[in-house]
Amino acid sequence: MISRLYKLIVIAMERDTYDFELEQIKKLIKERGAKRVGLQLPEGLKTEVTDIAAEISKDTGAEVIISGNSCYGACDIDEKLERIVDVLFHFGHTQTFFLKKEPLLRKVKKVVFIELRSSVNVKLVVEKAVAEIKGDTVGLVATVQHAHALKEAKAVIIHSGKKAVIGKSRLKYDGQILGCDFSSAVVPCKEILCIGSGSFHPVGLALYTGKRVIAADPFTMQISIYEAEELRKKRYMTIARSLDAKSVGIIVGMKSGQFDLSEAIDLKKKAVEKGIGAYLIVMDDIEEDKLLGFKVDAFVNTACPRVAEDFVHFEKPVLSVKEFEVVLGERKWEDIFKPFSFKR
Ligand code: SF4
Repeated sequence: MISRLYKLIVIAMERDTYDFELEQIKKLIKERGAKRVGLQLPEGLKTEVTDIAAEISKDTGAEVIISGNSCYGACDIDEKLERIVDVLFHFGHTQTFFLKKEPLLRKVKKVVFIELRSSVNVKLVVEKAVAEIKGDTVGLVATVQHAHALKEAKAVIIHSGKKAVIGKSRLKYDGQILGCDFSSAVVPCKEILCIGSGSFHPVGLALYTGKRVIAADPFTMQISIYEAEELRKKRYMTIARSLDAKSVGIIVGMKSGQFDLSEAIDLKKKAVEKGIGAYLIVMDDIEEDKLLGFKVDAFVNTACPRVAEDFVHFEKPVLSVKEFEVVLGERKWEDIFKPFSFKR
């Protein structure tokens, strides 16, 4: 009960620090003369959305339509909603390279990304995290909500007598990371300090960069350590369970920034050449109960490259593309994990 209450307090604290940019949103609606407006927020912030809708509607006169679908990243634009509105506000992510993909160019004009910058003070948690840095230098990264605070975090580390490097990113900001892009962690040091909440990003950082990750949560003030080898072992075991597969379901994600049919067809061809039966399966959200019925020995996921990690305890192995290439004998085990996994 206490831990549930604590969680709710943390969520409320977190929410209160985000900049929803409502004044800019209302200004833009008026400037564009938008009559219908769409709102898409990540799961944890859906409690806010009715208040936001009411305020926008009252102050602009626009009809506001809320997306009830998932919102995991900039790869996950609610396309059906986007088609029926004049402008769609997508919260919590930055426009990324995914949107440069050909089928998505049309959407860039209609979708406005609200980054939800957090005003939480990162100084205290970074001061606490410094004690965990083993070497002289640490790479410094953050999710988009805290990317603007990285310089301040760097100053804290330097003040403690250590060095900090903020790496160049393929994303909008230096030091910014995504669940599938850790290009900013390609820096000359063995440890990364990651500012943000939850385990999704630090787990990916450790897994894909092979570095030791110190995760610093500025809301809970919790410091957690992630070691690459432990995480990689779990994935190697899943690959090992797939080595004898006689048939595979190749999942094609239908979310706008994850769709890659040509890659799925290519993998199917390679599997068939190796004597493995292969079937293409399209899905929006990839969930265990939706996979249960298929009579195949394993699944390969061509959508979000991090989804396979959610299926560690699933009765059948679910592999990423690179992991399946190991099964096909086309990739070495040591070449599976790279800091940017989306573009393969
Ligand atoms: S990690 Fe997955 S959900 Fe997140 S941005 Fe990348 S593809 Fe999208």
